Amino acid sequence: MLKLKNVSKFYYNKGVIASGFTKVNIEFDIGEFVAIVGESGSGKSTLLNVISGLDSYEEGEMYIDGCETSHYRESDFEEYRKKYVSNIFQSFNLVNSYTVYQNVELVLLMNGYKKKDIKEKVLKIIERVGLKKYKNTLASKLSGGQKQRVAIARALAKDSPIIVCDEPTGNLDSKSAKEIIKLLKEISLDKLVIVVTHNLSEIEDMASRIVRMHDGKIVSDKKVKEYKEVKEVVVPDNKNIGFFNIIRLGFRNAFNIIPKFILLFIVFLFIAVSLLTEYGSLKKSEYEESKMGNNYYFNDLDDKRIIIKKKDGSSIKEEEFEVIDKLDNVARIVKSDVLVDSYLWFQNENGEYGISGVLRDIDLFEDKLGYGRMPENDEEVVVAVDEYDYYFNDKIEDAVKNDFYLEGDKNSFKIKIVGVVYLDSSAFTYRDSVIYASSELINKYMGIVNRNYSNVIVNINDKNYDSYNILGDNYAIIPSDKVSQGCAYTSEDINYGCRDYNCKNKGLGIKVNNLYYEDKLDLKICNVYNQKNVGNLLGIDKNSQGYGSIYINRDDYNNLFNKDSYQASVYVSHIDNIDMVSSELDTLGYDTLQIRKTLNNDGADMAKIMKIVKLIIVIIMIITLFFISYFVIKLILKSRNVYFSTLRILGGSFKQVKRITDVELFVDSTLAYISYLLIMFLVSRNIIHIKFISNVLEYLEIRDYILMYLILIGMSYLISTRFAHKIFKKSAMKSYREEV
Ligand code: ADP
Ligand code: MG
Repeated sequence: MLKLKNVSKFYYNKGVIASGFTKVNIEFDIGEFVAIVGESGSGKSTLLNVISGLDSYEEGEMYIDGCETSHYRESDFEEYRKKYVSNIFQSFNLVNSYTVYQNVELVLLMNGYKKKDIKEKVLKIIERVGLKKYKNTLASKLSGGQKQRVAIARALAKDSPIIVCDEPTGNLDSKSAKEIIKLLKEISLDKLVIVVTHNLSEIEDMASRIVRMHDGKIVSDKKVKEYKEVKEVVVPDNKNIGFFNIIRLGFRNAFNIIPKFILLFIVFLFIAVSLLTEYGSLKKSEYEESKMGNNYYFNDLDDKRIIIKKKDGSSIKEEEFEVIDKLDNVARIVKSDVLVDSYLWFQNENGEYGISGVLRDIDLFEDKLGYGRMPENDEEVVVAVDEYDYYFNDKIEDAVKNDFYLEGDKNSFKIKIVGVVYLDSSAFTYRDSVIYASSELINKYMGIVNRNYSNVIVNINDKNYDSYNILGDNYAIIPSDKVSQGCAYTSEDINYGCRDYNCKNKGLGIKVNNLYYEDKLDLKICNVYNQKNVGNLLGIDKNSQGYGSIYINRDDYNNLFNKDSYQASVYVSHIDNIDMVSSELDTLGYDTLQIRKTLNNDGADMAKIMKIVKLIIVIIMIITLFFISYFVIKLILKSRNVYFSTLRILGGSFKQVKRITDVELFVDSTLAYISYLLIMFLVSRNIIHIKFISNVLEYLEIRDYILMYLILIGMSYLISTRFAHKIFKKSAMKSYREEV
């Protein structure tokens, strides 16, 4: 059956050649019960490994059933092991995390048995080796003798004609040893059993033949008992493992060691989280780029914004706003459009603290305060600032003690900051501030904002003067409660413009025109002030910035500058609805302008380059992620090298072992991915709050989730492949030896 002719085995170790055995000539028949003895290092194990196809040989020829094997490749030996050989080792080589039943079943699963045929066979074999009581006990919980019985049961399940035992009793007490030898003897009737032992006495009276080795050579070979040679070798009809058995083992391995399962789950969860957030932020920045662009006329480039104006040029009345507000998909309206495009600049008295931003109605406030409280009167405001804003973070306590004035001018309007919201800032953008104020306050400021957008001409004595909105400019117009309606107070400085060098009681006309309207107002100069009387007349200091300007009654001022709204901004709730809302507004009699259509995208080329750079970063990240997870997973799976070499010793091929690992990692990664989707779902439903998830959630679509899942599965597949290659690069014996 087995014949070795002049076979030698050498070990190559760091350039040194060691001899395992040399020029061995020996032949074995089925039916024999062979004992191999010899001192330690004489080459017994090496011979067994070569015979069982676990190690290659370098010289001579080994015949199996008359066939040469010197040309065999690894896969041929796999095939040979699968059909012909079972191994039993001193160290048992069981799967410790499997039960007795599962250890025996494993052999049958590997050999393609169907589930329904397995159970009875396994139970019968377990009974035969006397372990019926322990069938559901974990292998790790058994005594040495019991473990070796499981190993024998496994060999029986495999039903191979050759059973090779390397010091099977080496770890056993003498009583268990005797029982094991007896069991092996029973089996040997229709098989070839080769037993290596250092204790000849325990086997002497049962062995049919005793081979003695010394220094890599066979020194004696004696038949000591008759045996019945089995001429007809029955090779078991072992099939390939089969799809369902791979799935079954993969699932079993995914869960059978809980700590390992949890570790792998965490690693895959980490990969899933990194993939989805990184991809989500790529999509987010892509989206932000798509609406990036420049525009010199508007500050607020929100792509959901539509600017509206009546087609007939008239102002928009309150009832008309109500109609717009009731349209579907309208999120909010800013009635005075200029507000959203003007940055207002507020400063405290000594200019130490400042804030600039757009004004927004406090009614639209829906954030959570990060500091302070909500306003309680018209002067108080809440500001939303970038989370890295220095003054409103580190110096917040000091900052809020101050009154803030528009453009730092005490004579203009005052706000008090009582609450702060911190806006998340992404890596490269600094968020603009928003000042949430009462509608009364906003109304007040509208007068100033409108003034800034208007051409104003002051007419004195039939002469026109441009009025710049600079405090202290002789023709600047400032509202005051001290001046009665119809009156204007001017400074002595412009007296020269009047014929008799005193402007008092002369007329003063103000003409206003801007994008939306023209208006004029005729006033009388009721008083001329100078440094002496300015305090009395106007209540301002002679050194104040406003000294020199023209003061008029606040109501007159509001009539000129605080008109009804002529232009407003409508914000839609979702960009997809913007065209629909636009056309509805059109039928209601408005000219509309979508702000996103006003952008000229000078930065498009730059944006394209940025996009490619970002894509490369994501790809590098995925590759890095792959290697990190490969090494982590390798470490986790390393503890299972024994398992894999056991599979190989049982005759598992590279493909089978790889497939089982594929399934195991597939199960783990899929579970991790599903768990993460679940977390994302909870975030999307606002049941839990995780900032980095909610940041990217709205940018991911179903196909992104599928794509990322495929990448994750692909990664786990590659990891499993690499891992299997790594194990199979070494010979089965080597990877086994390294572990035991
Ligand atoms: P035994 O089983 O009889 O104790 P072995 O077959 O293990 O002996 O060893 C036979 C010879 O081969 C010894 O000289 C040993 O040093 C050598 N040998 C065994 N395994 C290796 C190996 N992996 N690398 C190098 N030399 C080895
Ligand atoms: Mg040995």
